[in-house]
Amino acid sequence: MKLPKKLLGPMGWGVGPLRRAGSGCMTAGLLFMGLITPASTHGATHKSTDAKMGSPFSITAVAEDEDTARAAVEAAFAEIDRIEARISSWREDSETSTLNRHAGRGPMVVSDELFGLIRRSLSVSKLTGGAFDITFAGAGKLWDFKAKPAVLPDAEALKRGLAAVGYQGVKLDAEQRTVELSIPGSRIGFGAIGKGYAANRAAHVMKDMGIRSGLINAGGDLVAFGRQENGELWTIGLADPLNPDTIFARLDLTDQAIVTSGDYERFIEIDGARYAHILDPRTGWPVRGVVSVTVVCPDGELADALATSVFVLGVEKGLELINRLRGVEALVIDDSGRLHPSESFQTLVVTEGHSAKTSNLKSTS
Ligand code: ADP
Ligand code: MG
Repeated sequence: MKLPKKLLGPMGWGVGPLRRAGSGCMTAGLLFMGLITPASTHGATHKSTDAKMGSPFSITAVAEDEDTARAAVEAAFAEIDRIEARISSWREDSETSTLNRHAGRGPMVVSDELFGLIRRSLSVSKLTGGAFDITFAGAGKLWDFKAKPAVLPDAEALKRGLAAVGYQGVKLDAEQRTVELSIPGSRIGFGAIGKGYAANRAAHVMKDMGIRSGLINAGGDLVAFGRQENGELWTIGLADPLNPDTIFARLDLTDQAIVTSGDYERFIEIDGARYAHILDPRTGWPVRGVVSVTVVCPDGELADALATSVFVLGVEKGLELINRLRGVEALVIDDSGRLHPSESFQTLVVTEGHSAKTSNLKSTS
């Protein structure tokens, strides 16, 4: 049954606890719900899970036989390791960290890969009027979302940090393949796009090996291609951000990425106010008003960057942007639990197979 006209109608059809659903593991609001079936005449499925980029990653490949599927998953993980070592701003020896140390000291020659990632990041910044900004880290480094007790950054330090934020300060020279962080003290970080890029690359590596079906869950950023071993589409559950143990919608996908940015995984609470890890690059402060953004489009990296962007832009401007982009859909949930879908999001949603459980979420229309 396809959900007709109104998205997610009266929200009486969530499901029970996530842990009960299939072989899923929940990260950042998304859950793979398909069952990994044992080897059959159709082929074999191999799945493994590992911590990468500070999040749990799991990779599934469907192939003719178990060995081929396993080799593909291993190759995909090796690719993710390679990417993380190069782009992570948390690693002192990464190319990104070398570039950050070079801020204010002129152009630096970088790899094609880093150049490309920065170039694409800047184009998302332009597309979003600066809501997405890899130089957020100038202010972002002052926020500690793990501190106990929770503490806000010093206002003066934040003001100084903000002076180092601004994607316009990142200068590219394609011919020389150089990047210049022209603002002294500025630094970049790919927290909002790197996992999507890694998921894309992992899928690419598997496809290059002849794998026709796979699912990459990069810490909640999902890229799916082909079909499950039993011939069915990949089934993704959306977790209720107000009650992350329940899911409230099910999407069946192939050759799509689906990414959720939420405020319920990394945040501090002070005097009842929640400060989450997505910052408005214009103020240096965490964004309020939205609790979750899910973006579906064929490209994992773009989905990742747009989910973060829409989070910053808010419901109205965020959806205005999404509705302008062909082949991109989104669902935004505001802090009162209201659902705000993009124009054709409902065409992606299926409902069958779930027991009813009342959700706190409210439909907008
Ligand atoms: P998650 O990491 O949970 O998947 P996101 O993709 O939304 O969530 O990325 C959030 C991360 O992106 C933050 O932890 C931070 O590293 C970085 N970030 C925060 N605000 C911005 C911003 N406005 N633009 C770009 N990156 C940001
Ligand atoms: Mg993101």
